[in-house]
Amino acid sequence: MRIKTELANKEFDSSKIAEFKNVWVFCEQREGKMMPTSFELISEGRKLANELGVNLVGLLLGDNVDGIAKELGGYGADEVIVCNHPLLKTYTTDAYAKVVCDAISEFKPEAFLIAATNIGRDLGPRCAARLHTGLCADCTHLDVDMPAYKDFLRSASTLPEDRIDKLGTIMLKNNLTDKMEAHDVSRGLKMTRPAFGGNLMASIVCPRFRPAMATVRPGVMKKNPFDQAKADAVKITKYNVQLSQDDMATEVIEVVKAAKKLVDLIGADYIVSVGRGISKDVEGGIKLAEELAEVLGGVVGGSRVAIDSGWLTADHQVGQTGKTVHPKVYIALGISGSIQHKAGMSESECIIAVNKNENAPIFEIADYGICGDLFKVTPMLTEAFKAAKAAK
Ligand SMILES: Cc1cc2nc3c(=O)[nH]c(=O)nc-3n(C[C@H](O)[C@H](O)[C@H](O)COP(=O)(O)OP(=O)(O)OC[C@H]3O[C@@H](n4cnc5c(N)ncnc54)[C@H](O)[C@@H]3O)c2cc1C
Repeated sequence: MRIKTELANKEFDSSKIAEFKNVWVFCEQREGKMMPTSFELISEGRKLANELGVNLVGLLLGDNVDGIAKELGGYGADEVIVCNHPLLKTYTTDAYAKVVCDAISEFKPEAFLIAATNIGRDLGPRCAARLHTGLCADCTHLDVDMPAYKDFLRSASTLPEDRIDKLGTIMLKNNLTDKMEAHDVSRGLKMTRPAFGGNLMASIVCPRFRPAMATVRPGVMKKNPFDQAKADAVKITKYNVQLSQDDMATEVIEVVKAAKKLVDLIGADYIVSVGRGISKDVEGGIKLAEELAEVLGGVVGGSRVAIDSGWLTADHQVGQTGKTVHPKVYIALGISGSIQHKAGMSESECIIAVNKNENAPIFEIADYGICGDLFKVTPMLTEAFKAAKAAK
């Protein structure tokens, strides 16, 4: 079956970048409940919109989702464009991509952020291709303001000062004229993401087309405090959705939920993670981690080794290809602290590491490092926390 992919605005031209204005965020909801990533991205989008001096707009798709739109204002949205339609009740690529692209072709935002959830990773590239613009996937840092971006590079990279100083214009070849052209990126979105297995950070710009699109890793951007007055004041715009079953190659017949509840690492205040260090007694190691997590009121996570070895399911993975977490306390049991693991947990408020190798890299970022055998140390930690709780 062939689906028509014409945009609502047939005059839309992504290369006329002067016509584009405002920062947009795709606000993901499931079953009428806003995903926490929507609040994270609205908060980050607020920062970018302030730097550009433009409005921040949330784009909300669903069926009868007006009731949850105002909440986005409380985290910083100036306006929410609500797209209601029965065919948007459950996510499908065709329907969502059509409505998002229609809205973008009409209102022309200069930047468009989407959370890198399963839905966002599916929707983002489809929309970017249809709109003929660029998308940087899985971003962990965003900037517009050039001085702020340069400060970020100074603190987070090894780029020499003279290179940082010169940033502002990039040269690109025009494929039509074959000539090199200078592009000023000082007002453009600078999208930073891990590359080459997390060994490098790459900053990507989209100088020739709009909107500049980014998918952003869940849990990376910090949520603003909720402001009820702003929620009450947010402008709600109803979008005239043009959608029919003919626009879709698929039909949702039934939604079957995973029988097992997945672990909520991103929302957890206390995480006890295990790594290869438990290999000599996997069951015993996980039990020790679970007991410690229970005393703390937290959850169990794991390094990729623990997931790839089948000791824990994929939803437990912390790190570059797992979840990014910032709990109050992160306890790493038998985890070496690879760059990919640290990418997902180094922003934790307090890190406690137990490792029998005193040179393990995890100790470089740990607030408390315990050099010893986790099978001996963990029960002691559990008892100590139990006693401290009882004393309270
Ligand atoms: C593209 C890419 C993406 C990746 N994404 C991720 C990711 O998202 N998350 C992730 O975690 N990894 C990721 N990895 C893998 C990563 O490079 C490491 O291989 C992995 O993090 C190592 O896991 P580990 O620390 O459990 O194991 P190891 O590095 O083998 O460390 C085990 C540690 O346990 C200690 N130990 C052993 N026995 C004991 C004991 N009895 N008591 C105390 N300490 C003990 C050892 O001293 C050692 O430091 C990725 C790799 C690539 C290439």
